[in-house]
Amino acid sequence: MDLRYSPQDEAFRAEIREWLAREVPAHGAPPPPGDWPARREYDTAWQRKLFDAGYAGIAWPAEFGGRGLPITQQLVYLEEYSRAEAPYISVNFVGLMHAGPTLIAEGSDEQRRMHLPRILRGEAIWCQGFSEPGAGSDLASLATRAERHGGEYVVSGQKIWSTRAHVADYCELLVRTDPAASKHKGITWLILDMRQPGIEVRPMRTLDGESHFCELFLDEVRVPVTNRVGAENDGWRVANVTLRFERGTAFAQHIITMRAQIRKLVTLAMTRRSERGSGWDSDAVRAKVGRLEASVEALWRMTQMCVSEAERTGAPAPFGSAVKLRYSELSQEIAELALRLVGEPILARADQGGVSTSEIVREYLWSLQYTIAAGTSQIQRNLIAERILGLPKGR
Ligand SMILES: Cc1cc2nc3c(=O)[nH]c(=O)nc-3n(C[C@H](O)[C@H](O)[C@H](O)COP(=O)(O)OP(=O)(O)OC[C@H]3O[C@@H](n4cnc5c(N)ncnc54)[C@H](O)[C@@H]3O)c2cc1C
Repeated sequence: MDLRYSPQDEAFRAEIREWLAREVPAHGAPPPPGDWPARREYDTAWQRKLFDAGYAGIAWPAEFGGRGLPITQQLVYLEEYSRAEAPYISVNFVGLMHAGPTLIAEGSDEQRRMHLPRILRGEAIWCQGFSEPGAGSDLASLATRAERHGGEYVVSGQKIWSTRAHVADYCELLVRTDPAASKHKGITWLILDMRQPGIEVRPMRTLDGESHFCELFLDEVRVPVTNRVGAENDGWRVANVTLRFERGTAFAQHIITMRAQIRKLVTLAMTRRSERGSGWDSDAVRAKVGRLEASVEALWRMTQMCVSEAERTGAPAPFGSAVKLRYSELSQEIAELALRLVGEPILARADQGGVSTSEIVREYLWSLQYTIAAGTSQIQRNLIAERILGLPKGR
């Protein structure tokens, strides 16, 4: 696919740039970290503004509330979104980045009609219920059980690390429907309505003091069979479609936002002064920032390839594992350099040249999760070895 931008794409860029320049400041600052009900309000109101202006679901099908525009305009949208430092997607992440795309690829028309417009309008927040205490990297070992009773599944079990489940309306849920089958064969992908009896959501505290994710306890929760995505016991295949979106295209916004993080590194280096001058006077610092910037641009090209592949084939290729791997490592390198550039004042949490050092500490702590979430780096390396390079399967 030709990813060069056409005059139409550039006209779209000018239009959205103007809209963002007006609307981003008008939407105000996000609520303080940790206030999740307020964050939900803030994010859903912003999503509604995007929808009303025609900027939600740029490349999603028009019949389900999207714009149905070419993929290049989706990429232009992301570039401008990051340039304008528009609100982080936050509570809308799962719905927009992998639950919605999975429904587009695998859902029934009824499921698409019911859920996709609500995701785009910010009316329905989704979370992911894949991992369990005994099933993380080895996801196919999941044990949450779903028994079929007429037109319903009765689901019992425990999920863990379910990001923002405490503010979610729906969950993309993996359950075991055939315990006798081999572990990849007896799994089913369900849409779980979170607002019903039998679901207990317990937020978990992380090392930054916040509660980003939750445990889910499911006790005889009833899920209509019509909420099944794909066939019964075909959930491993559907889950892999979700994971390919999660690893291949879901981080596109984060990746383009790294351009702003590089700009912040330069500001920090210029501001930090010692008897030897500013941090920016150091050849080593400039070389490091230059190398990181080149890596960000290379990663953005890899992301563009993945996004266009998803458009062509319906879901991103296994190449998404390479994007996810590089993205998570690069995020950690950028966050660590920011910490080093500030140096000792970080301990006092004193602001540095207009940049909040508390925010730098938060970003550093947060960056530690990137090499674990959505599949650890070891798992991505295994996938790259087996599915891209064609090496023999590890034991
Ligand atoms: C911030 C964050 C958000 C998350 N959000 C969600 C969510 O919303 N929903 C959800 O379902 N899950 C979520 N997860 C869970 C995430 O998918 C799992 O943490 C991840 O898959 C790893 O599983 P685990 O934690 O059980 O580690 P384990 O699988 O126990 O792995 C432990 C270590 O062993 C290594 N290892 C395991 N198997 C292999 C192997 N075959 N080869 C080489 N090394 C191996 C791993 O790389 C890791 O270093 C989230 C995790 C994080 C950190």
